[in-house]
Order: sequence, then structure tokens, then C-alpha cells
Amino acid sequence: MFTSPRIQLLASAGAILALTLAAVLLASWFGPATERVLTVFLISLTAVVGIGLYSGNSGILSFGHVAFMGIGAYAASLLTLPSALKVATLPKLPEWLAMTELSLIPATLIAVVFTAVVALFIGAAIGKLEGSAATIATLGLLIIVHGVIIGWRDVTRGAQSFFGVPRETDLVTAAVACVLALLVARYYRDSVSGLRLRAGRENAIAAGAVGVRIQRERLVAFVLSAAIMALAGSMIAHFLGAFSPKKFYFNDTFLLLAMLIVGGMTTVTGAITGAVVITLVTEVLRRLESGFTLGGFDVPPIFGTAQIGIGLIILLAMFRKVDGLAGMKEWEERLLPVADLPDKAPVVPQAPATDTLTGEAMTMAFGGLTAVDGVSIRIEPGEIMGLIGPNGSGKTTLLNMLSGVLTPTAGRVMRGDEDLTGLATYQIADRGIARTFQNIRLFPNLTVMQNVLVAALSTHGGRDAPARAHAAMERLGVTGHAAADAGTLSYGDQRRVEIARALACQPQFLFLDEPAAGMNREETDALMVILRRLSSELGIAVLLVDHDLELINQLSDRIAVLNEGRMIAQGTPLEIRKDPAVIAAYLGTGRKTDTKQEGEMT
Ligand code: ADP
Ligand code: MG
Repeated sequence: MFTSPRIQLLASAGAILALTLAAVLLASWFGPATERVLTVFLISLTAVVGIGLYSGNSGILSFGHVAFMGIGAYAASLLTLPSALKVATLPKLPEWLAMTELSLIPATLIAVVFTAVVALFIGAAIGKLEGSAATIATLGLLIIVHGVIIGWRDVTRGAQSFFGVPRETDLVTAAVACVLALLVARYYRDSVSGLRLRAGRENAIAAGAVGVRIQRERLVAFVLSAAIMALAGSMIAHFLGAFSPKKFYFNDTFLLLAMLIVGGMTTVTGAITGAVVITLVTEVLRRLESGFTLGGFDVPPIFGTAQIGIGLIILLAMFRKVDGLAGMKEWEERLLPVADLPDKAPVVPQAPATDTLTGEAMTMAFGGLTAVDGVSIRIEPGEIMGLIGPNGSGKTTLLNMLSGVLTPTAGRVMRGDEDLTGLATYQIADRGIARTFQNIRLFPNLTVMQNVLVAALSTHGGRDAPARAHAAMERLGVTGHAAADAGTLSYGDQRRVEIARALACQPQFLFLDEPAAGMNREETDALMVILRRLSSELGIAVLLVDHDLELINQLSDRIAVLNEGRMIAQGTPLEIRKDPAVIAAYLGTGRKTDTKQEGEMT
């Protein structure tokens, strides 16, 4: 299943095929020199989309992918190298390997699979790291693999040149490999896994809360991208015929990352744009490097012009276009922005819960600060429970513990008889608990449709996902924004999309952290109607945090009041209004609670 309009994917595939074919025909018309330049370009592009598949979709820049290119190159070459040469130059190779002499395609296939298996182990480890820690780990990977290649002399000839590889990569082979890589990268981006990974890139906490297993999706992308790198490695090895470990180290890492970053990491359009721009500029600068004559004036050769030129282009591109020349969207997403709304198929509603959700004596300490102190709370099926308290009284922290974003220092979260304490957010999401965030956590560069769809796809086994997504958007009245990027919407609309996204998970318990913050009276009243319907029509239990006491009073069956991390009262709105402790601690302080966003640290 693909998550974007078929027309976009077809347009992209058509363009990839047509452009490559045109380039190949043009190059063969120009002759062998141009053919060689284009072959190298196509192999570089293959590697660039390989890195982009992982880095672009996950948001984790990788310095290590060229290592997989190296592994692919050596693995494939060991299989194609003539036996006689292997016996002569690598006498310690195992007998079966020395005797193996495959042609390019089977050797490449085996190398790709082998590299993918290696990547599976490495990716499982790296996938646990976040952000720059992951990036640094990939750098370590590059250095380690380089070290292994140099050290493993019996197989790789160490730092020496690995020569005699049959030169079987011609322009057409490189073109076929490149088209394959481009198509895999483009289709992966819009696969269910790709959409989930992009959601995780946009906001990891929110992705987890709608059921996305980020680490698993990262691993899928890592393995796929390593396989593409191995393909590129085999191609370049069989193009050059001889290479050394240096070929798969910092120089090429720098060059390929420059292409990726300048063009735009997150799209195939960007990878192609970057590869074209950097290749053209290097070709021109390389000519200049050896000196030239300008208007009768001899410009002397300047060594390093090409490298400096690439550096300047990166700087320029970053200053002008942070997301690269192509930005965050594929060309076909811009030109064919079809709001491909799924059919309004009837959705089988989730049966209301029959058990309660309880937090038992929950405590959360941040260093010396006890944000929540021994709080117990029970939410009955289908009820709306208000949770109020002054700023900093621990409401958000309580929600974070109930939804798995934080693991309580002490206490338990129970749903019926099941202990949910310590489960990951995606596991909580699959147990019928969804939430929104005080500081809106949408996936800003995904469309509203994609924001909601990814939640539906990642819960309840993705059953009826498009229909569920549609129903949730309808209910919140955001269908009209389906094709817009979530980050471009007004504040009120973003809040509604966030609720729609939570609703697409078909929860039985829904936590809303200040959903009316930043909404005007009219919007708040409309929201009130929607929330009441969630409870009356769908039987969803709602835990509602808000500073708008009118909203809370009108909606809630019961209200719980927190003050300085402690639960000071629970009861019906009437009881709460009369409670002396509440009046003293919350209302009586005369502290004006406002709808300002406080820092929500998670
Ligand atoms: P509320 O939502 O009721 O305004 P919070 O739950 O956000 O309150 O915060 C309760 C207290 O815990 C505050 O003093 C806040 O500064 C602190 N706090 C919340 N999250 C963190 C965190 N991740 N690290 C440290 N302190 C935190
Ligand atoms: Mg809060």
C-alpha cells in the first residue's frame, strides 16, 4: 500500500525513466568520454539516493553509508575476480571463494544481500540512538569499516590496490542500477514504513503516541539504504577495475553528502538536483583547477578549487535554502497536489471501553523536584473528566505518565487488570489510549491527510486506515485542509488536526492537554460540541486539561484538581466549586490562570 496519490508516483517513475533514457542517449551521441562521465554520475546518484533514503526520511544525517558502498564493492569484486588472480594475489582466501567466479549481476545481488545483513545488525544498534548521537555513531561506523578493510589483508589486500576486477559496468548497467535505486527510494518514501519514518522525523514523541515504532522503521530504511549503497559500490568497483580502501572513505562521503544536502535530503527530486549541480560544478572547476586563460590573462592553476567550490556551494545553498534546492517536497507533489481523499467508507466504530483506566499513587520526580506526588486518578468508560490546577501543578506530567511518554518514578498505570506502567508510547497507543499535546506536536511537513492517516495506519493493525482517517477529519471539520501541510495551518486548526489524529487511532480513552488554548470563544464553543459528541456518540472517555473553567465546567462529568503535584479534590463540577481546599488553593489564590503556553518538557 502506498500513501500518496498514484498519479504522483506514476509521474515520478515516468520522469525518472525518461530523464535517464534521455541522458544515456545524449551521452552515447557525444561519445565515450561523456559516457564515462555520465556513468560515474549515475553511480554517484545511486549512492546519493541510498543515503537519502535513510537520512532524508529519518532525519538522521549519516556519515557512514559510504562504508556500505565499500562492503558492497569488496564483496562483489571478490566474487567476480578471476580465480587465477585470486589464487595468485590472495592466497589465503578460503578455497570456495577462490574458486568462485561469477558475472556482474549475480555477484552484485549476493553483495547487496550480504551488505543488507551486515546493515541489519549495525542498524539495530544505531537505531536506538537519537539525533546527533546517531550521526556520530555512523561516523564511527565509517572509520571501523575502513579499519577492517585495511586490516583484513588476506581478503582485501589491505591498504593496497584491489585490482583486476572485470570492468563490466557500462553506461547501460549503471543506468539500470540507478533507475532501480531511484524507484526504490521514491516508492519507499510513500510506503507505509516511509510515512511512519517521516512522521518520526517530524516529531518523534508524537509519532510514538500515535502508534509508530520508530526504531523498527529506522531499521527498515537503514537496511534498504545499505542495500542501495552496496549496489552503487559494486557498480563503481566494476567500472574502475581497481580501487583501494581510500575510495570508500571521507572524500566520497563529503562529495555525496554535499550532493544530498545541496539538493535536499528528504526527496528524490533533491538527490537528483544535488547530484547534477555538484557534478556540473566540479567538472567546470576541475577544468579551471589546471589554470586557464581569460581575456589574454593567464590564470595560474589553483589546487583545491573544486573542493573549495563545493564548500562554497553548500554554504550558499544553506543560507538561501535550508532544506536544499528542492525543499521538502517532490516536484510532482508540488505540481500535482491531489488531495486524494480516501473513500468515505463506513467505519466500524470502536466499542467503548468496559474497564477503567487508573493511575495508582503515581509520582514523578525530576531531580529534586517532585512534579507529581502520589496522585491516584480513575477514568471511567465514556466519561469526560476535567483536570485542572494552576500552572506547574503537574497536569501535563500526569498525562505524560498515563500515556507512556514518561515512566513514573513510583506508582502504576492500569487499564482494567493490565499493567501499562513502563510500556512504550506506541504500545499504549495500541491499547486504546490516544492524546494531544499542550505544545502542539504535529508533523508540520506532512499534509493534514498524512498526519491523520499515519495514526490510523499505526494502530489496530492499520485496519480500514483510510476510512478511519477520513472519518476523524470529518468529525473535527478539517477535511478542507487535507492537502495542506499541517505546519501552515492556523493555531486553532492545528489543534483540531491534532485531535483528529488522536481520534484516528480509534481510542477508548482520549487525553487532551489544553485543546482550547489559543482558540477564541467561538472556536472553543464549537470544540465543546465536538468533544461532547465524542463522548455521547462514540463512548470515548476524555481526560480534559484546560484553563478555560467554563469549558471544563460545562463538559465534565467529574473534575479532578491538582495543586503543587498533589490531588486536592475530585468530584462533580458542583462539588468542586464548593470545595474549600479548591477555593483556597486554586481559585482563592486569586492567581489569574491564563491560556499562555508553558514549557512542556518531556
Ligand atoms: P502543568 O501542566 O500543570 O502546568 P507540568 O506538569 O507541566 O504542570 O509541570 C509540573 C512541574 O514539573 C513544573 O514545575 C515543571 O517545571 C516540572 N517539569 C515538567 N516536566 C519536566 C521535565 N521533563 N523535567 C524537569 N521538570 C519538569
Ligand atoms: Mg501543562
